[in-house]
Amino acid sequence: MYHRNPTYGCIEVVCGSMFSGKTEELLRRVRRAQIARQKVQVFKPVIDNRYSVDHVQSHNSNKVPSRPVEKARDILKYVEDNTRIVGIDEAQFFDDSVVEVAQKLAYRGIRVIVAGLDMDFRGQPFGPMPKLLAVAEDVTKLSAVCVVCGNPASRSQRISAIGGGPGTPAAGEVNRIAVGAAEMYEARCRFCHEPDVVIANTMTALTSESGGEGTAKQRKEQAE
Ligand code: ADP
Ligand code: MG
Ligand code: ZN
Repeated sequence: MYHRNPTYGCIEVVCGSMFSGKTEELLRRVRRAQIARQKVQVFKPVIDNRYSVDHVQSHNSNKVPSRPVEKARDILKYVEDNTRIVGIDEAQFFDDSVVEVAQKLAYRGIRVIVAGLDMDFRGQPFGPMPKLLAVAEDVTKLSAVCVVCGNPASRSQRISAIGGGPGTPAAGEVNRIAVGAAEMYEARCRFCHEPDVVIANTMTALTSESGGEGTAKQRKEQAE
């Protein structure tokens, strides 16, 4: 006779740059749990309204229903008694209280799967992510493909200054958390990432000769 251990609570963190497949991986884990008939609830900060207000959606359009919450603590209000797994996407947008929330849920026996950007577009640790990484039982760091050189990409390059631009809060909090997808950011490796520069899309730059040369020249100068 086997005894099921009801307390398997833990924290798993899935981190990496934009387009590294964090949401895809979160959804993969959620789906597998659902196959095992475990009740899953997914949350995300209200601020992430990129695609859908009541779904978590990846860049390739996979999605599951999710509840947008203003504050991390709201998650505690909505988690139901029979929930076995709690997913939290875009966790970098919450404040540090998300760490306490994740810990509480884990001690309650819930498997908490947290996905979020480990670095902002300047390559700095993002919000509560370092603390979440520290207390997690399991950490997965994903990479995207660098759109400049093809190497594994760990960074998110800001390529558009919507709501920002020279002189405006390009280095401020509002911009740091600007939510955007393909049109605002691209994935880059350490060497191709230009943290202080908001530049035109590389895909466009590489297809137009002058733009491509300009970007490459700029990078070469930086390396010298
Ligand atoms: P994240 O949540 O980490 O931002 P998603 O799970 O939403 O990522 O999307 C991952 C998908 O993004 C990939 O499967 C791929 O289809 C697409 N994608 C777009 N640009 C890139 C890139 N430069 N490198 C890797 N995948 C990319
Ligand atoms: Mg995502
Ligand atoms: Zn690169």
